[in-house]
Amino acid sequence: MKIIGSVKEDLNTEKRTSITPETTKKFIDLQFSVFLEKNYSEHLGVTDKEYQNRGANLYGTAKEVLEKSDIILKVNCPSNDEVNLIKDKSILIGQFDPLLNKEIINKLIKKDVKIFSLSLLPRITRAQTMDVLSSQANLAGYRAVIEAVKEYGKVVPMMMTAAGTITPAKVLVIGVGVAGLQAIATAKRLGGIVSATDVRTAAKEQVESLGGKFLSVDGAEDLETPEGYAKEAGEDFKKKQAELLKSSIKKNDIIICTALIPGKKAPRIISEDMVKSMQPGSIIYDLAVGQGGNSAFSEADKVNVVNGVKVMGAKNILNNLALTASNLYAKNLFNFLSNLYDKEKKDIYVNKEDEIISKTLVN
Ligand code: NAD
Repeated sequence: MKIIGSVKEDLNTEKRTSITPETTKKFIDLQFSVFLEKNYSEHLGVTDKEYQNRGANLYGTAKEVLEKSDIILKVNCPSNDEVNLIKDKSILIGQFDPLLNKEIINKLIKKDVKIFSLSLLPRITRAQTMDVLSSQANLAGYRAVIEAVKEYGKVVPMMMTAAGTITPAKVLVIGVGVAGLQAIATAKRLGGIVSATDVRTAAKEQVESLGGKFLSVDGAEDLETPEGYAKEAGEDFKKKQAELLKSSIKKNDIIICTALIPGKKAPRIISEDMVKSMQPGSIIYDLAVGQGGNSAFSEADKVNVVNGVKVMGAKNILNNLALTASNLYAKNLFNFLSNLYDKEKKDIYVNKEDEIISKTLVN
């Protein structure tokens, strides 16, 4: 019987977990054993008992788990110490960027460990149930609005009270991928007046279907790649976009930034002057802060106040809803592993003809 194991992440930076009681049961139904480090999910309020009730074995140390496991599930790349404990020829599945973790990856390759990174998953229909980028970005978009509203000193919806009418907050979303669409939906549910912009023209219809107003950069070409991602904008586009956003930004109360270009630094879209043009009390929440940020003054895990405008963004916003993020992440991992599992052979089979497997396989 193959052993699937998981240990706690570095809780200073990562609160998510890779296995939930629900997926423990699913793995056991597939004839795997599940080994976890003691107090694996205690920080999220999930007790060892809940895991044990679904059939997991709990061990006192991470060492015991890593040394025994044939398949290791992680969120982030393992540490040096963890790599030393991981068994030769085992399988490691996580969500790390192989290019940013070259040294560790090379060590694992020397141990003949097969590494899969779900960050490399193709965005095809069959892979949707495994798509960690979507499941996590969706939650990040939701939470960015909640965090922004928490810092905003006013209410979001229009209210007609005996004391007077409160005008609704205006929310602008920059970048309308998975996170941006959820940010729009969340801001709309809260009663905000929402507009949004993107370099991909396909986003217009999606924004409008959520009840938002799309701000188009006039006369600009569609910057969508065949894979559905954004291309880097040229100088002419940037100028036109800045012109469009200059007047819009100062009229908005809350701005949610999500614009990213795969493999590149995040585009700088909001300049210092644009931040300073906003009303005091306004908020910019920059979800792209980890990749350099879309806005001037945005710094990871800081709230910078500029002329009364708060510019903020967390390095790992998913830690603020780690329980839901873990539930979805663990389901994505289970679905990925089910696809790796050959029902006839009753074992893992690395079928390189399968695009999902070949594209996520790092080595
Ligand atoms: P992402 O996180 O890479 O980027 C976020 C958004 O920022 C994108 O919409 C991008 O166009 C936009 N952007 C980049 N530069 C910009 C700029 N200068 N100004 C304004 N906006 C800018 O994107 P994502 O959320 O990973 O989604 C990427 C694509 O993948 C989308 O087309 C999405 O619909 C698609 N997708 C497909 C599937 C599937 O299974 N078929 C699943 C998820 C996402």
